[in-house]
Amino acid sequence: MKMRTSRTRSRSQRIIDQANLVCYYCKLKAEPDYKDVLKLRRFISDRGKILGKSRTGTCSMHQRQLTREIKKARYLALIPYTERHAL
Ligand SMILES: [Zn+2]
Repeated sequence: MKMRTSRTRSRSQRIIDQANLVCYYCKLKAEPDYKDVLKLRRFISDRGKILGKSRTGTCSMHQRQLTREIKKARYLALIPYTERHAL
């Protein structure tokens, strides 16, 4: 039998997967912080883009806070803007 990867999952299965995502910060009862680079890295792609809440399951309130904190961390050079700026 062919193995099912995330790419071959059916549309209905993907919707179920997305519904089961829980906001990381709500679960921890924490707030995003620009100094916490290791945690922020979970929410940016390897090219440095901020991942959408449909990918990460973050709630709207925390997604807005997260975006602000990631931009702060970028400005302070804690996180690269793009992969070319990575150390
Ligand atoms: Zn949340």
